[in-house]
Amino acid sequence: MIHTTHPEPVVAIVVAAGSGVRLGGDVPKTLRLLDGRPLVRWSVDALAAGGVTDVVVVVGDGLQGTYQTALAGAAVPCRIVVGGATRQESVSCGIAALPDGEVVLVHDAARPLVPHEVVRAVVDAVRHGADAVIPVVPVSDTVRQVLGDASTVVDRSGLRAVQTPQGFSRSALVASHRAAAGAEFTDDAAVCEASGYQVVLVAGSREALKITEPLDLAVAEVIVKGRRG
Ligand code: C5P
Repeated sequence: MIHTTHPEPVVAIVVAAGSGVRLGGDVPKTLRLLDGRPLVRWSVDALAAGGVTDVVVVVGDGLQGTYQTALAGAAVPCRIVVGGATRQESVSCGIAALPDGEVVLVHDAARPLVPHEVVRAVVDAVRHGADAVIPVVPVSDTVRQVLGDASTVVDRSGLRAVQTPQGFSRSALVASHRAAAGAEFTDDAAVCEASGYQVVLVAGSREALKITEPLDLAVAEVIVKGRRG
């Protein structure tokens, strides 16, 4: 008899409910096109390439149909839900709609080019027992801390910039978000840390840049061209 093995599901929340005003344009940032494809679609397909099997996409109210169209033909099934006023609230809306799966990733739709190796490393770390995993990159700029009129250089050797997707055991993410209601954190690893979970670091990638300003979109176009060879 032939046994087919079904890999454990890996589910992801892709948050796309921000306004993205800094990028300009007349559509929400995550619907802007990169090489003819909406950023949100790039993000979903990048997660799928790294092993994600189902995605909940969190979008602005009234835009469900537009995102449905933007995600037609995505590499994995996408469920679309409406987000909240803050990123943290939007993630909570995504958690409420999560399909089954013990490994949960949370990803910014504004990071369309995260390499599959990074996604895979995050998933593997959760599978090996980590409750909260973040991809990080070293900080290449000299950094100064400003205190009133004075400023001092910070030793950057110990600093890391944090990217997404961040990975979680389902129980840690659900419990921490519930406990954090009312307090505001900038990412989900910080939400988990506030509940006492340890955060594990894996190597991120400069290609997982967050599209914030027009220059970022121009850089992303160059990366896509480079990948095509
Ligand atoms: O504003 P920022 O760039 O930090 O947003 C990061 C991600 O969170 C973006 O993908 C954005 O669409 C999402 N977001 C959201 N709901 C909000 C605010 C931001 O889903 N209320």
